[in-house]
Amino acid sequence: MSERADVVVIGGGAIGSAAAWHLAERGRGVVLLERFTPGHKNGASHGSSRNFNQAYSDPHYVAMLRESLTLWRQLEAETGQSLLETTGIANHGVNPAFDAVHEALNSAGIPAEFLSTVEAGRRWPGIRFDTRVLFTPESGRLNADRSVAALQAAAASRGADVRHGVRVTGVRVLGDDEVAVTFSGTTATSPTSSSSTTTSTVIARRVVVTAGAWTESLLAGVSRHPRLVVTQEQPAHFAVRDGSVEWPGFNHTPGSGGYDYWYSSVYGMFTPGEGVKAGWHGVGPVVHPDERDFAAEPEQLAALRRYASEWLPGVDADRLTPISCTYTTTPDSNFVIDAVGPVTVGAGFSGHGFKFTPVVGRMLADLVAGVPAPALFSLAAARRAGG
Ligand SMILES: Cc1cc2nc3c(=O)[nH]c(=O)nc-3n(C[C@H](O)[C@H](O)[C@H](O)COP(=O)(O)OP(=O)(O)OC[C@H]3O[C@@H](n4cnc5c(N)ncnc54)[C@H](O)[C@@H]3O)c2cc1C
Repeated sequence: MSERADVVVIGGGAIGSAAAWHLAERGRGVVLLERFTPGHKNGASHGSSRNFNQAYSDPHYVAMLRESLTLWRQLEAETGQSLLETTGIANHGVNPAFDAVHEALNSAGIPAEFLSTVEAGRRWPGIRFDTRVLFTPESGRLNADRSVAALQAAAASRGADVRHGVRVTGVRVLGDDEVAVTFSGTTATSPTSSSSTTTSTVIARRVVVTAGAWTESLLAGVSRHPRLVVTQEQPAHFAVRDGSVEWPGFNHTPGSGGYDYWYSSVYGMFTPGEGVKAGWHGVGPVVHPDERDFAAEPEQLAALRRYASEWLPGVDADRLTPISCTYTTTPDSNFVIDAVGPVTVGAGFSGHGFKFTPVVGRMLADLVAGVPAPALFSLAAARRAGG
C-alpha cells in the first residue's frame, strides 16, 4: 500500500514530537511515525525528570536557552500541563568555565550568581559542596514523559497524524521534492520482542529524521553523517532521608585528588515520588540500540553509590533504583541540525538535548521551509569535529 504526505517525521521521541508540533502549527500536513508504543522506555526521552540546566557560555546555546524557556511555557499554556518546574541548579566542583558561564548568562539577562560553600550548604543540606557554587535560579526540572505526550497531543490537535507502532525500514530520496519512506506496522513493545508486520510506503515532499540512537542506520545511503556513538547510560534514583529537605538540580565536576573513582562529572536532580537522581555523563557502555540488556554495569553503579555516600548526605546510598537510557553522542557533543535536499536531520543530542527540545523542533521546521540552522550544527561541522 502507498500513500502521499507533505512532511513525514521519523521518530516520536522529544525532538521529533517537537518538530511535528511546530510543523503542524505552520499548517504543514505532518505524519509522525514512531516505532514503539506511547511512553516507551527504549530511547532517550522517557522518565519523569531532566535538568533544564542553564550553565552554558556558547552564545548559540545561550540564545536557545532563552527561546526554549519561552516555548516550554507556551506548550504548558497550550496543553494545560505543568512540564517545567523552576528549582534552580547548583553547579559546583572544579570547572574553569564557571566565570565565562556567569558572564555569558548575566549578559544575556539570565540570572546566575556565585554562592559560598557555607551558603550553599545552608540552603541545600542534602548536598556536600567543596567549592564555590554557580547557582542559576531560573533553571529547573522538566518532566520528560509528560513533555513528549504534551508535544504529541498539541501536534495532533493542530492536525498532525501521530502513529505509534510503526517502524520505518527505509528512506529513499527520489527527487528534490520526493522521498519514499517504507515502514511496517508493528506491535513490538521493545527492540527484541517479536511482532506481526505489514509493509507500506509513504511518498513525502519532506522527511525529518529524528530517530535518536537509530539515526545512523536510517541515514545510511541518504547523507554522510558524523560518527554517532550510542551508549547505554545508567543513572539511579536514591531514596531521600528527609522529605522536607529542599533540593536544587546539581552538576558536579571533579577536581584532583580523591576523585579517582569518578567516571565523569555528575548531574542530578530531585524527582518527586522517586528520590534524587544522580548519574555519570556519557560514559555508559557503547551499545547497538536493538541489542541492549537494559542492565546497569556493576562497577559504574558501585562508583555511583560511593559518590552518593560521599557527596549526597541527604540520600540513602544503599537504597537506589537504576535507570537505563541511551545517549547518542557526536564527536564534539554539538547537535546535528541540518538538511540534505528534502531530508532534514536532528541527531546527536549527546546527553544534553532535552532542555532545548522545543527550540530544536522550531529549527527543524525552519529547515523544512529552507531556513538553515547555525553552522555549528551542520553535518559538515560534525564530520569535521570527528576528524
Ligand atoms: C539518562 C539520561 C539523562 C539525561 N539527562 C538530561 C538532562 O538532565 N537535561 C537534558 O537537557 N538532556 C538530558 N538527556 C538527553 C535527552 O534526554 C536527549 O537528548 C533527548 O531525549 C533526545 O531525544 P530524541 O528525540 O533525539 O531521541 P529519542 O527519545 O531516543 O527518540 C528517537 C525516537 O525514534 C524512534 N525510532 C527510531 N528508529 C525508528 C524507526 N525506524 N521507525 C520509527 N521510529 C523510530 C524511537 O523509538 C524513539 O522514540 C538525558 C538523556 C539520558 C539518556
